[in-house]
Amino acid sequence: MNWLKTLFPRNKKIPAPKRVPRAEHPISRSQLPSGTLKVLYGLKDAGFEAYVVGGGVRDLLAGMEPKDFDIATNARPEEVRQIFRSCRLVGRRFVIAHVRFGDEISEVTTFRGPITDSHERDETGRILADNEYGTLETDAFRRDFTVNALYYDIRDFSIVDFAGGLDDIKAGVIRLIGDPELRYREDPVRMLRAVRIANKLKFHIEKSTAAPIRKLAPLLREIPPARLFDEVVKLLQCRDGVANLQGLREYGLLAHLLPHTDMAMAKPQSRDFVERALANTAERIVAEQTVSPAFLYAALLWPAVQARTQQLCKGDSAQVNVAIAEASEEVLAKAQQHIVIPKRFSVPMREIWALQPRFDMRRGGRAQRLLTHPRFRAAYDFLLLRAASGEAPQELADWWTQAQTGSGLPPVTATESNADGEGAPRKRRRRRGGRNRRRPSEQPTAGE
Ligand code: ATP
Ligand code: MG
Repeated sequence: MNWLKTLFPRNKKIPAPKRVPRAEHPISRSQLPSGTLKVLYGLKDAGFEAYVVGGGVRDLLAGMEPKDFDIATNARPEEVRQIFRSCRLVGRRFVIAHVRFGDEISEVTTFRGPITDSHERDETGRILADNEYGTLETDAFRRDFTVNALYYDIRDFSIVDFAGGLDDIKAGVIRLIGDPELRYREDPVRMLRAVRIANKLKFHIEKSTAAPIRKLAPLLREIPPARLFDEVVKLLQCRDGVANLQGLREYGLLAHLLPHTDMAMAKPQSRDFVERALANTAERIVAEQTVSPAFLYAALLWPAVQARTQQLCKGDSAQVNVAIAEASEEVLAKAQQHIVIPKRFSVPMREIWALQPRFDMRRGGRAQRLLTHPRFRAAYDFLLLRAASGEAPQELADWWTQAQTGSGLPPVTATESNADGEGAPRKRRRRRGGRNRRRPSEQPTAGE
């Protein structure tokens, strides 16, 4: 039990395990997907232990619909593969088995071993090497929060509670297992998970679990930027996006993830824009419509892009296209110091931004071309948010809404066109070459 002392260094009481029989808890087998049951029984029939653990058990006990059901077992990945034909092993350091039944993929993890002083760490305390197997008990104390260390045992349908998670679910509390500072140092992403899981369950973060977060927030810099990209998507591209953003701000975490967004939140209009974007994303998720990290990140960084664009073009609206491209480049480069945004998202982000000034140009040819741009829909949704937060004229958004009805482009009044810079006397520019000349295949189709 020495390894447990590492986890509870300040001589805090080490919780004793508790087994709650089926008759005393509400989880029933009928709540588990058929693929999960097949994996559990397959492992059990082969003589192994098999449990549902983590978010699946937690969410069911809290009366919510789980996203997925993770399985923990004492079978080694190779042994899991021998049991299920549809099994694939993933991961290099710590191998995880993916078992497929129909559309359902179950993640099966072999019990992890204890974290001890001999584990390889970086200078901040972050665990680097992590590839030892263990027992149910060592696995339980490796988990982050007490509510995430509840195991549903397929042998007798009981729940095993090592860390007091059942009481914490009843009390609505998110509590780290062991010494909070040590656990955050081991893996700083746990600070983000605390905020996310608390908001998801409408729980509160227990005092000593919340206390070190502000101080340790800078440790997020040690996390590989690609992992942070995924964590930010999980936090902000979900039903609780607005609450999570507020939580990240409150604990001083946002400044180490997206410093631009953090600063923008101090300005009421920018804050309104970002929150509207997150609320809109949440509504789309509830309505089961598609959402894209490109749109999310485009919104999070827009206040910075917009402010920098204005600085660069110094009121000369003819320069806006060049300025916005340069501003996009700069803002993305700074953001990438914290979070890696994969190219498949940063390219559409740039397009969404670049199309914004083009909405101001409502003369026939240009407007028609914009309507048929492949990124029009996302850029238009973005314009609607800008208008709702007062950053773009509502009349402009309405015009583009009408322009898509298919009954021809709506008229632009003199005052509106002046506002666009479109009504002002223009030097006639002669088109050179074919770049701007529309080819027959580019004929706009109404309503797109
Ligand atoms: P959800 O699936 O709803 O996002 P979750 O808690 O299930 O929440 P997963 O990322 O699916 O999150 O992780 C499954 C389980 O693995 C967790 O419940 C927890 O027990 C453990 N876990 C995940 N991340 C960590 C971590 N950083 N440190 C310790 N344990 C973790
Ligand atoms: Mg999960």
